[in-house]
Amino acid sequence: MSTPTPIYLDNNATTPVAPEVFEAMVPYLTEFYGNPSGLYRVAKEAGAAVTKARESVAALIGADPREIVFTSCGTESDNTALWSALRTTGKKHLVTTQVEHAAIHSFGEHLETLGYTVTWLPVREDGTLDPAEVDAAIHDGTAIVSAMWANNETGVLFPVEEIAAICKKRGVLFHIDAIQVPGKVPIDVRKVGCDFLALSGHKLHAPKGVGVLYVRTGTRFSPLLIGGAQEKGRRSGTENVPHIVGLGRAAELALENLIDEQTSTRALRDKLEHGLLAAIPGSHRNGHATERLPNTSSLRFDGVEAADLLLRLNEHQICASAGSACSTGSLEPSHVLSAMGLTAAQARSTIRLSLSHMTTEAEVDTVLALLPRLIAELRQGTPAKV
Ligand code: PLP
Repeated sequence: MSTPTPIYLDNNATTPVAPEVFEAMVPYLTEFYGNPSGLYRVAKEAGAAVTKARESVAALIGADPREIVFTSCGTESDNTALWSALRTTGKKHLVTTQVEHAAIHSFGEHLETLGYTVTWLPVREDGTLDPAEVDAAIHDGTAIVSAMWANNETGVLFPVEEIAAICKKRGVLFHIDAIQVPGKVPIDVRKVGCDFLALSGHKLHAPKGVGVLYVRTGTRFSPLLIGGAQEKGRRSGTENVPHIVGLGRAAELALENLIDEQTSTRALRDKLEHGLLAAIPGSHRNGHATERLPNTSSLRFDGVEAADLLLRLNEHQICASAGSACSTGSLEPSHVLSAMGLTAAQARSTIRLSLSHMTTEAEVDTVLALLPRLIAELRQGTPAKV
């Protein structure tokens, strides 16, 4: 018996590997398995493929290929940027926001236990950030400002160009966690003017376990991993060639699909969001209406526990996620939604629907037809049909 294909609306959690990406990777798992630093053909082919992937990733973000460092994931890229800034400047203060992903948030908390200080900037009720807050938080002891470009839970965008201008004026390094952005919003690191920028393969239809750290030419750098001096000494460890090749192909596709994500995906997201808000009484959107990724919708339904709703959706093969992180068996309200002023109950009634260019109109129509009924049943306390 074949498993029905799910309706996958959790693309901010991870994305399916694109068939073209998988195809591009296969020769580097089978034929060209050499260590890219080797001097024979199976190795040289691998090395050449890494070079090509570096060029593709650089093209996606407007960088020079020499500014691209391959890592094992977005978390490593984020941690490395902060660590490098603290080490090269010798300063002990970091500015970031209250709504960062754990890759920055938890690392910042860890730094606090090591004697560093962190300013956690608040956000407005709609999840946006006032750049003046950044300016006010910087002082002589500040090593770096770290801000996400797009929030993974709400999709809300931060004004990264304005923040970069402030950091430049104040002589402070600037790192952007852009992990949710590629393929959805154009990225031009030169135009933005940041020192570091993090990406992760599995958010753009490449596999999990490969990431990128952009390091602007001229930015002093101190590596996190030290060993065989791969990546020009910026990230030691034998390169994960098949995954890097996959990421390179995914970067090419992300550029090709950008217009689609900006138009078709946005149109489908809006159809879904407007349809649900109109059909379901006591439903609300979290986050700014327009300063937002084109694929993300964070919605809350009064009186409904997201955990219950997700179970019902799962019975219908619909994949979404909650606005809460599941830890030690209890649903903790999301720190992002709490920072936006939502109560614990409001945060617990939030689900996130995140689309991609692979999402179809038929899938959106199925969800539009089903979700209002599931919510009405949950509100009436009708037991699940299991
Ligand atoms: N930053 C953001 C905004 C993310 O959404 C994620 C993943 O969800 C990460 C960092 C961590 O990336 P990775 O899973 O590749 O470590």
